[in-house]
Amino acid sequence: MTHAPARPLNLLVAGGGIGGLASAYVLGRSGHNVTVLEQAGTFGEIGAGIQLGPNIFKMFEYLGLTDAVSRVAFFPPGLGMNDVRTGEKVIRVPLGEAALAAYGYPYGVIYRVDLHQVFLEACQALPNISLRTSSKVESFDQDASRVSVRIAGGKTLQGDALVGADGLWSRIRERVVGDGKPRVSGHIAYRAVLKREDVPQHLWNDDVLLWGGEKTHLVHYPLRRGELFNLVAVFHSNKYDEGWNTFGDTAELNERFSQAVPQVKELLGKIQTWKMWVLCDREPVKNWSDRRVTLLGDAAHPMLQYLAQGAGQAIEDAVVLAEALRFTGGGVEQAFQKYQQARYLRTGRVQLTARFYGDIYHASGVQRELRNQLFRSGKESAGFAGLKWMYDGIDPKNLFT
Ligand SMILES: Cc1cc2nc3c(=O)[nH]c(=O)nc-3n(C[C@H](O)[C@H](O)[C@H](O)COP(=O)(O)OP(=O)(O)OC[C@H]3O[C@@H](n4cnc5c(N)ncnc54)[C@H](O)[C@@H]3O)c2cc1C
Repeated sequence: MTHAPARPLNLLVAGGGIGGLASAYVLGRSGHNVTVLEQAGTFGEIGAGIQLGPNIFKMFEYLGLTDAVSRVAFFPPGLGMNDVRTGEKVIRVPLGEAALAAYGYPYGVIYRVDLHQVFLEACQALPNISLRTSSKVESFDQDASRVSVRIAGGKTLQGDALVGADGLWSRIRERVVGDGKPRVSGHIAYRAVLKREDVPQHLWNDDVLLWGGEKTHLVHYPLRRGELFNLVAVFHSNKYDEGWNTFGDTAELNERFSQAVPQVKELLGKIQTWKMWVLCDREPVKNWSDRRVTLLGDAAHPMLQYLAQGAGQAIEDAVVLAEALRFTGGGVEQAFQKYQQARYLRTGRVQLTARFYGDIYHASGVQRELRNQLFRSGKESAGFAGLKWMYDGIDPKNLFT
């Protein structure tokens, strides 16, 4: 359903990842004409899992996408942490009904491809959204009334505004913020997805389970109604400066997990091919808009994945951006200022808190003992109590008054 604004805008979105498609859908649904420019030859996502906190299900409800997401998601009964060296249970937070009772929305996990497909189909169903592949945004210019975007190959497109949803290595950000390369954290992630039948029963677990160790951790959880099993192994490495979606070195992985309990080693041994990511973030900033150009998702506030919120924050951004445009009656420059003003403290808090949670997962020595003791002594839900501000989410109907 679209809600026609007084004057529909012609909006250009650079990047067709989860953030780009989410914003195209929300803006298209608000009645604007949207053109998504994706550099790749097809719209798609990498094969890996993604966690969706209750704050994101709140957005799905607002967008009318809860059923579409729930059909392909998996709803884990708990979220736990074990010590990777001893197998000791550090904490387990019940989800399911408990998450519903605490936040009003569920905690789910989803195959990234499936989430991307939900947004892609939602966009395809709106005639005012145009989806273009093989359209790499090279540069842009703007004046008082328009933005011109130059695409690789020389073509130029014009619109009322440009949303840079072009990810961690954003070109648009180079011009708007100009703060150089992202910060390399020193940790890398290896990701793999197994079919259910390839995971022996004694290694299968319905929970989102994190095995924390010194400068390492492994997370696993089921995907796609329980048909798949997602694994993410994270460890410290000095080898890589930058890189994305290349193949991992199994020997290095095994060496980093050499102290792990047999169950973890057996699970890691099931994977033949890992895909590798160098984990980066940035210092939070408060100004990611320049007149008719703004940023969204990882382009605006890239974060480490330790709170599993990057894509979720991009979806929240999309909703706030559309609401800001509605509030200003389509006044782009004012809306972009309102949007970033409404977002930067929340996204900055997630960016900084994610770093802190990484330290908790990777603790060693006294830090590790203290973590285990504090979590053990607390209530089962203590691990979540400090994240209520995040999981409570935003209220899209009362953002701007
Ligand atoms: C190991 C790991 C685990 C994670 N787990 C979670 C999780 O559990 N939950 C969660 O919410 N988040 C998670 N995240 C974070 C999440 O993946 C990102 O925050 C999210 O993908 C950001 O979406 P985006 O659309 O902003 O950027 P991207 O996904 O990077 O998409 C950017 C798009 O722009 C395109 N593009 C780039 N440059 C151009 C250009 N010049 N012109 C045109 N197109 C361009 C790219 O091809 C791409 O399609 C995780 C991240 C990692 C690394």
